[in-house]
Amino acid sequence: MKRMNGLRDDELIRQIESRIDIVDIIGERVELSRRGNRFWGLCPFHSEKTPSFSVSQERQLFYCFGCHEGGNVFTFLKKHDKLEFREALQYLANRAGIDISRYQSVRPSAKGARDNTIFEINQEAARFYHELLMSDFGKTAREYLLQRGVDPETIEKFYLGYAPDDWRQLEEHLLKKGFPIEAITESGLVRRSQRSDLYIDFMRNRIIFPIHDLGGRIIGFGGRLISGEGPKYLNSAENRIFSKRFHLFGLYHGREAIRSASEVILVEGYMDCLALHQYGIGNVVATLGTAFTREQAKLIKRYSETVLVMYDGDEAGQRETMRALEVLRQEGIYAQVIPLPPGIDPDNLVREKGKEEFLNFVQNNRVTVTEFKLQNYVKSGLTANLERKVEILWSLFPEVDRVKSVLEKERQLNILAHRLNLPEGDVRREFNSWKRSRSSVGSIRNRNRVFRNNRKREEKPESRHFEERLLVRMIADYDLYKRIKEELGIDTFSDPSVRNLALTFDCVCSTGEPREAQDRFKEKIVIDDELSATWARICMLEEENPLSAYEIDDYFKHLMVTRERAQWQEFGAQLAEIELNGDFFSVLRSIVRLGNMTFGRAGKEGSHESGKET
Ligand SMILES: [Zn+2]
Repeated sequence: MKRMNGLRDDELIRQIESRIDIVDIIGERVELSRRGNRFWGLCPFHSEKTPSFSVSQERQLFYCFGCHEGGNVFTFLKKHDKLEFREALQYLANRAGIDISRYQSVRPSAKGARDNTIFEINQEAARFYHELLMSDFGKTAREYLLQRGVDPETIEKFYLGYAPDDWRQLEEHLLKKGFPIEAITESGLVRRSQRSDLYIDFMRNRIIFPIHDLGGRIIGFGGRLISGEGPKYLNSAENRIFSKRFHLFGLYHGREAIRSASEVILVEGYMDCLALHQYGIGNVVATLGTAFTREQAKLIKRYSETVLVMYDGDEAGQRETMRALEVLRQEGIYAQVIPLPPGIDPDNLVREKGKEEFLNFVQNNRVTVTEFKLQNYVKSGLTANLERKVEILWSLFPEVDRVKSVLEKERQLNILAHRLNLPEGDVRREFNSWKRSRSSVGSIRNRNRVFRNNRKREEKPESRHFEERLLVRMIADYDLYKRIKEELGIDTFSDPSVRNLALTFDCVCSTGEPREAQDRFKEKIVIDDELSATWARICMLEEENPLSAYEIDDYFKHLMVTRERAQWQEFGAQLAEIELNGDFFSVLRSIVRLGNMTFGRAGKEGSHESGKET
């Protein structure tokens, strides 16, 4: 795992954990109520009617007894808000009022610090643009937005702004704020003019759309020309923190809605996205004025398995739709298309119809990729002869074949038959022969298939596993840790994930103060999803059924007896071997070994006693 800031991360995590309560963070996303010493709610990770999702304030962990998801606040944000670890870190630091740059800028590498300066410049520029829009100077721009139907709430929510029709205002403002000119130019908002050798503002006379990353930071800007000459849309220049192909407009604001709708509407323009959000349809994202990329598809996949492509109804829109569909296919994302009539875009559709009717339109008009392609073929009038029809069929069969449901597959084949005016039986036979022809190369294709549902989880038996309970006690009780290490060895834990946690703790103990071992252990596993999840599960279960001192002693005794018995058995086998073909030296060796065995036992018991005294 990549750790950008090494030790500094630990310190930051500790700061965050001391100021953030997991109950608050989860409580904002899941309705929780207190029962006993835990909070309970309906699990956001599986569907259920009675709460089996629990949050422990004391331990700062969550665990679902139904689907076994569990972990700490970072794990939760990663799973629930689909944040990367660093994004979660950023988000929580913001919440805790911690200036994350303090932890990054002290690093010897200046890169983090420079990135931070760009973020700060973007933030300051966004404020500058927004305040201008809301001031007298922004009157024309505000009127333009109003006339396009953008209401004040949406302006606030997306923090829209106005770049004045001037060459130097932003630059002067940023300089006044103390930013160095090198950083300002690096942000891409100000650039050196080739003609006059002066620095000039990049965005002029434009409505400004700040673009957020998933941590809520502003990484770049889109600008729409209000009047005059120049490209209609412009993005701020790419730099180290802003690359258009990796981001989507609206994703930050829409991520909650996308998750709950479990599908996302992909549109082309900033205005489309704004309009739908304004009408209460939040599961919408827009590309940043460029062709849809695989990186963007990957980003979407973190939130949603289904994408509805809703591009403009004109020819360019259709072409882009085809391209987007291909990208989605490559990423294994299920896609549907909502075709729009020529001259209509999502923006004017939702304004014309309102929310309910718009949603009905989406429901009634969404078509599968097969149908969309077929519609396009039929439209282009290429259905004349049988040969061409077969050609169309074969080009669409891969789409049909990707459908998992048998019924849906049938339905699509029937639609094909109907649209191409062919008997259903013929189309099905053609489909089968296509499949046969393909099976010879099938293995290669299958290899590339994306298995989306890879959340395979080894089902643990519900019975409270002894080793797990012992581990929880061991980590809470340093003396017990020493006793286990000396008498049984850390590898006494047979379950791989439990052993992994035990070894992590062991490693932490060998490098510092025993008193802090538990804290350092938690910091250590924070960034590891798997360990965090296992740890949460184990802790929550142990709490239900804590191990008694008596049970622990019993376990030690039992294990010692078992080991002794094994040793004697082995010794007996050796004796038998010696009896058969032994020499004097092997007899001697065995006698020495016997002595060691008895002495070793006495010695271990001795150390146990002394361990108890301290
Ligand atoms: Zn669950």
